[in-house]
Amino acid sequence: MAKIIINPLPNDKKLPEFGKKQKDRIDIEADETIKKIISSGLLLTRDLNKLLSQILNYSNEIEKNISLLEDESFPEVEFQTIENDVFDELLQKGFIQLRKEDPTKARTLINEVVRKYESEKRITKREEIILEIENISNTIEEGVSNFESLQGVDLGNLPSVKLYICKFCHQVIQKFKFARSTCGCGRILEFKDTYTKIITCINENLKNFIRNNLWLEYGAEKLFQDCGYNTECGINLMGSSGITQEIDVIVEKKGNKIIVECKAGNIELNNILIFYSKMMDLGIFRGFIFTTKPLNEIEPAVQKFSTSKNISIIPLILETPTVNLKEIINNIK
Ligand SMILES: [Zn+2]
Repeated sequence: MAKIIINPLPNDKKLPEFGKKQKDRIDIEADETIKKIISSGLLLTRDLNKLLSQILNYSNEIEKNISLLEDESFPEVEFQTIENDVFDELLQKGFIQLRKEDPTKARTLINEVVRKYESEKRITKREEIILEIENISNTIEEGVSNFESLQGVDLGNLPSVKLYICKFCHQVIQKFKFARSTCGCGRILEFKDTYTKIITCINENLKNFIRNNLWLEYGAEKLFQDCGYNTECGINLMGSSGITQEIDVIVEKKGNKIIVECKAGNIELNNILIFYSKMMDLGIFRGFIFTTKPLNEIEPAVQKFSTSKNISIIPLILETPTVNLKEIINNIK
């Protein structure tokens, strides 16, 4: 008869030590702009959140436009827009007569004139895009500067990108650093054949920070720090099961450890079950969930289950004044 094997419970009840960080977290935490953004203490406010998502959207627009400028075949000119100019010039050059006398030459003439207007159009279009990029870049700078003076904070130097642009055809041929190269217009470009533009635009770290909701985790960490806790954000810890658990924020004061999960999306029962199993695996008996959602969007059963497992859900994290959040943390039993 087969025996039922039950794994023995681990006798090692020692709490896990602070663990390893992923490479992208190390980069983010070393980024001077992000450091300033975190230390502003405003990450869990709607105003800074709005500013960051605006910066992200504007930067996406800038990147899209830069890639158009890097494309030597862009933009395809619509024939309609140059039709009249082409037609006028063809008439002027005796096209009607030429078509009767020499159709091959007439066709060559069409090609020549069309190409001329297309390339003029292309240059104009590229210059328009450069202006557009500069406008968006200025909008970002202005927004940040207004925010800083209104809130009395310094968000640090915003990342930027330096563009090297062909003087002849306005194609972007390099970013960040110049190197001699052949342009789409056929010229071999030396440094003197280019002009530069410095465009404010976020980098990969800041993009990751905003898009993947890391701002919420670091905002939560800062809050606990300000309340006198030792903290770690975004680390992997080995549970007693031997499984590596990804933790948003772990905090500790006087030997009491708490883990915090940060959610910008919906909270389902499943999220709580997984969070609770992490807590148990790590031997931590107090949990918090920081969410941007209101409580009435979380099912009562989910709330009840959380409470029964010593997990506090903090709703509307961006609408709750920081002083109230600190009060909650200072009253943790
Ligand atoms: Zn060129």
